[in-house]
Amino acid sequence: MHILSKSTYIKGEQCPKALYMYKKHPYLRDKLSIEQRAKFKRGTDVGVLARSYFSGGVNMTPTNPNLFGKMFEQTMQNLNDPNINVMYEAIFIYNDTLIMLDILVRDGDKWRAIEVKSSLSLSETYYKDAALQYYVLNGCNVPISDMQLMYVNENYVKNGEIDINNLFVFKSVKEYAEEQLDVIDKKVNEFKDIVNLSNAPRINIGTQCFTPYKCDFVGHCWKKVEKDCFLHTNALNDKELFSLYNSGVQDNRSFKKLLDPFSLETDQVDALEQNIFYINYKKFYDLIGKKTDSIAFLNLLFYRPAVPILDGHKPYQEIILAFSILSNETGETIEWNCFDDYSKMEDGLKILTEELKRYEKIVYFSPQNINLMMQRYHIIESKDVLFKIINLKDILKNSDFFNNKTKYDFSLKTIYEGLFPSESLFEHSRIILNATSDNELERILVNQDMEDENKCLQKAYKYLLK
Ligand code: SF4
Repeated sequence: MHILSKSTYIKGEQCPKALYMYKKHPYLRDKLSIEQRAKFKRGTDVGVLARSYFSGGVNMTPTNPNLFGKMFEQTMQNLNDPNINVMYEAIFIYNDTLIMLDILVRDGDKWRAIEVKSSLSLSETYYKDAALQYYVLNGCNVPISDMQLMYVNENYVKNGEIDINNLFVFKSVKEYAEEQLDVIDKKVNEFKDIVNLSNAPRINIGTQCFTPYKCDFVGHCWKKVEKDCFLHTNALNDKELFSLYNSGVQDNRSFKKLLDPFSLETDQVDALEQNIFYINYKKFYDLIGKKTDSIAFLNLLFYRPAVPILDGHKPYQEIILAFSILSNETGETIEWNCFDDYSKMEDGLKILTEELKRYEKIVYFSPQNINLMMQRYHIIESKDVLFKIINLKDILKNSDFFNNKTKYDFSLKTIYEGLFPSESLFEHSRIILNATSDNELERILVNQDMEDENKCLQKAYKYLLK
């Protein structure tokens, strides 16, 4: 019934082979990481809420994939039904391309098409998504008054019930979409030809494997790339690395001949070959600051809901859900959480503030710089931030820490496993998913996970300081 959809079109743009593989060999896809699953969950919540902005609509989502054609026919009939003014997930098919439009609203004798995004700002990808939707609508001869992106208003502040009318903002992209019609038509035809090939197109691995998204077929296409191959380094940029690799420089020995033997790149290749980590200890000691035993290892769990939960909060403003403080000197752990009632967050902040005063140094590991958040919530004085708080992630990044897993995932897990190759650590996202789960049993697991993660942080820190 259809060959392409929004997601397969996006795949085609990233890499024609990824499109082909997805259509012909989907079973070869990599498993979804916990972090990716968490992102999808967040997207759904906003989508559902956006519908209440245009309430009373008819949901056109088919109950199974075989019904896409039927729901397309139904959608086209609904356009002429004066009793139907709003449709959710309206289905349109044109030139073998299927779209499910988030929201379609009657607007006089035309229709206003809306694509919902759970972000605070709009990326180029979102414009492209909307342009594809518009291409299909245009092909189906749907009279469109406007094509809009509906996204989260960064200035919204919750005060009582969620005010849907202020939570979202709209951006018209009709003009952009009009301009893209010919380009998209050409691409759709190209992508259809690719899907109809009898074999996968020959495409070398390259920067497209990770940009703009990590491709689902890395596990498959990268099978032949050795674990210690120089492609896993990051001192040179990917464009240079792939250009060398795809021009025939595929083994480390040939690659190293091109390098300065005292360069970071050489150190990284050596680390790969010996299956060890690399760190510039001089930089590390400079950055780590004064030595002391009075250290608190802090595991701070926060959550950034797209739709604010607490009064006074903006979209994506963090809620501190839990903390775990491990005393380096006594080995004792102090824990607190407000999983069952986020409005108790303020109580936790007071305890945290008092506890942290007892230590000369606070060490945490986070992909985000939480210093600003700690100041905003008055957990720590601004003057203390520079001297007292250390994000081990930043220190290791700035000390050129590297191992065979850190290029695309610089997390406590990959660093820890690089330091202690016979051990493993779970993904941090597991904690976030469990902490925000509706299932009480899953929430109970969080405290232990936070404590365990904190002990790994302490072990890594001490090992590096040895
Ligand atoms: S892993 Fe790279 S080469 Fe393979 S399909 Fe994905 S993007 Fe294309």
